[in-house]
Amino acid sequence: MATIAVDFDGTIVTHEYPNIGEEIPFATETLRMLIHDHHRLILWSVREGQLLQDAIDWCKERGVEFYAVNKDYPEEEKDKNNHFSRKIKADYFIDDRNIGGLPDWGQIYQIISTRKSYRQILRESMNRLTDQQVPKKKHWWSK
Ligand SMILES: [Mg+2]
Repeated sequence: MATIAVDFDGTIVTHEYPNIGEEIPFATETLRMLIHDHHRLILWSVREGQLLQDAIDWCKERGVEFYAVNKDYPEEEKDKNNHFSRKIKADYFIDDRNIGGLPDWGQIYQIISTRKSYRQILRESMNRLTDQQVPKKKHWWSK
């Protein structure tokens, strides 16, 4: 079971802050699968107040309920936590500002469920493409 911090704008939906953009393909389906697999999802967003609530509601309407929002635990209170750090403790961060960009949601699911690296997932899918689409030539001059 992993703790997964998920950004909203640009990650679950296209970036149209303060409005809610279009869903990025397979985002909510993947998040529902991750919840079903018993992972803990933390919504990790710069949104505050009503704009944050809009994002929470938008996700909830699509069957995505978060374990916590902008904090490590549902019950966390800053003044009662002697070890409070602004960096949340997640195993994965899904964010469109990742260096290298946001993988597609199918790849995100593979990375988390197989515990493989993004590099490994990419290499395997490249190998599958090569096996499928490039017929093996007997000789370099073959058509
Ligand atoms: Mg973002």
